[in-house]
Amino acid sequence: MKHKAIFITGTDTAVGKTVICAALAAAFKKRGIDVAVMKPIATGAVKKKNKLVSCDAEFLRKAAHSKDEISLINPFCVDLPLAPAVAFKLRNRKISIEKIKNCFQELLSRHELVLVEGIGGLMVPIHNDYLVGDLIKDLNIPLIVVSRNGLGTINHTLFTLKQAEDFGLDVLGVIFNNTGKAGADISRKTNPKIIKEISGADIIGEFPYLDSVNVEKTAIYNLAKVAEKRLNLNSIIRKIKNEKTGANYKRLADSDKKYIWHPFTQMRDWQNDEPLIIQEAKGCYLKDVKGRQFLDGVSSLWVNIHGHQKKEVDEAIKKQLSKVAHSTLLGLANVPSIKLAEGLAKITPQGLNKVFYSDNGSTSVEVALKMAFQYWQHKGKGRTTRFVYLDNSYHGDTIGSVSVGGIDLFHKVFHPLLFNSFKADSPYCYRCPKKKVYPGCKFACLKKLESVLKNNHKKIAALIIEPIAQCAGGMIVWPKGVLTKMRKLCSRYKVLLIADEVAVGFGRTGRMFACEHEKVIPDIICLSKGLSAGYLPLAVTMTNDEIYSAFLADYSAQKTFFHGHSYTGNPLACAAGLASLEIFRKERIISKLQPKIEFLRKGLLKFKKLTHIGDVRQKGLIVGIELVKNKKTKEPYPWQEKTGVKVCLQARKYGVILRPLGNIIVLMPPLAISKSETNELLEVVYKSIKDICGDE
Ligand SMILES: *Cc1c(COP(=O)(O)O)cnc(C)c1O
Repeated sequence: MKHKAIFITGTDTAVGKTVICAALAAAFKKRGIDVAVMKPIATGAVKKKNKLVSCDAEFLRKAAHSKDEISLINPFCVDLPLAPAVAFKLRNRKISIEKIKNCFQELLSRHELVLVEGIGGLMVPIHNDYLVGDLIKDLNIPLIVVSRNGLGTINHTLFTLKQAEDFGLDVLGVIFNNTGKAGADISRKTNPKIIKEISGADIIGEFPYLDSVNVEKTAIYNLAKVAEKRLNLNSIIRKIKNEKTGANYKRLADSDKKYIWHPFTQMRDWQNDEPLIIQEAKGCYLKDVKGRQFLDGVSSLWVNIHGHQKKEVDEAIKKQLSKVAHSTLLGLANVPSIKLAEGLAKITPQGLNKVFYSDNGSTSVEVALKMAFQYWQHKGKGRTTRFVYLDNSYHGDTIGSVSVGGIDLFHKVFHPLLFNSFKADSPYCYRCPKKKVYPGCKFACLKKLESVLKNNHKKIAALIIEPIAQCAGGMIVWPKGVLTKMRKLCSRYKVLLIADEVAVGFGRTGRMFACEHEKVIPDIICLSKGLSAGYLPLAVTMTNDEIYSAFLADYSAQKTFFHGHSYTGNPLACAAGLASLEIFRKERIISKLQPKIEFLRKGLLKFKKLTHIGDVRQKGLIVGIELVKNKKTKEPYPWQEKTGVKVCLQARKYGVILRPLGNIIVLMPPLAISKSETNELLEVVYKSIKDICGDE
């Protein structure tokens, strides 16, 4: 056995968890296992020689025959016998979780097995927003529940087991402790069985009543003997040995290759690679089945906002789950979709107050196109049926959204299936379609759009754009003023403006919505990726009263908008979205973003100097780093060389997950990213580009 740990918690205080922990330590020691003990936080400590000490911690130390410093075993103690959050506050002291983690890691590195005794039960607050259960989750170790055997035990124990499940903890089993002299109490005999039947938890054993004098004095040798006799120690050892060791990696990888067809992936390459299999995530880090940790540099493909396992979002989903997972919006309404729509109408650009739900970015675009199309039909403009899109644009992968897509690599093969649309230039300054330089160019890139609109506006229903940054096209950041000009052109030619903010919405560009940068109000807006904070599939297409009203008529007039999806307005996803909006408000995410954006900007300065970086583009927390074969001529690397892919694989070796767009390295971290994480991201990307492209 190597560097394993077990957390011992109680169903309540005074259930005898210290005795059980000591007994386990003594018994494991007797079996020859190098065991350490830890009691990270102790309350009710006493003064000895003018120093506060925890008797529990000292007792544990003795039981384990430990030579570890008491400051490692018990880094935090306080005299008041209260919950830590209260006791330490009253004494004006603070508990550092970081310090607890460091002490724990130190003990873990020294010993085969560390037993960590908790403080009361799982819901005991260490800080107001950090409970014992959170600590166990952060230490990432399995749990033994100690339960006082008697009346009321079923309730307490089931509560604790349920709570452990909610925290996502791994329970090894329950130990029943008889804290009082044996009496006629029949509940003691029947408790273990019924608890096992209801919860499925393993019963490790039942500990007999030992009077406290006995425990303190003779004790330790005796404790080991009792534990050996009454507790199933072998089952504990077997379980912690079999803990996720990555042994199942091969089985999973084989199964993935056998059954899964991955998106945007050449599956022959995939077959020959070792897939990275993600198992869990916390904050800005993803963890794979082998236990390796990776910084999520692209927000799990541009969706994650507040980090993974954001408590408030987790809880909102669980809470909704206890009510209803799904009910339809076809002919019925549901609570979370109403509240979210209300919230979105308040924060989106003025006038966009009608919310049409769907479940992904592509469908939100389909809805926008069909809505714009039908709007003109209702307005008696039967010939107004066409759309304009920009070069390098990406609006999704369904046939309608591909019809307004401008990335040939993705879209060419489907051309025969698509409806015919007009294409205009993209405001891509680094590779200016008119070979001009901003701002002297006077927006020459818009000439094409203007002439398309001028010559065809009677036929054109809408212009669809990704305002401020064309993401999938290569993180093409628009120069200031372009968006305003587009809005003006649309108004002049009476063409609707559809803003696809699926990628840029929800703070990515430094404003809640990208259109805000130029105070532009589109006629239709599409939102998805960050809408549910990256938790569940959800999208909306929002529009104004003018468009909505054009669909109002007698039923027989057949002006209904005939569109809808099975999971439209899914309550779980809407609950996640609602929780996310609340976090934006409460944590003032947008204003806190500004220094992060500036920090990122400064960190990117040195990139420009590398030989093979042609352009570095940033808007908010969106970054595109364009790699070129020749900086002077801007000659790109041949796509067959997969330079971008190679850089990202290199970054993975250094513990960062990225996904490129051709030769463009994309950074799009969660808005929750910290300064030190930003530094890590920048360092790794810089190193990886240098490793792969060189710097002559
Ligand atoms: C990702 C994306 C889409 C498509 O969203 P899906 O949920 O992948 O269908 C549409 N538009 C933009 C701008 C996007 O970035």
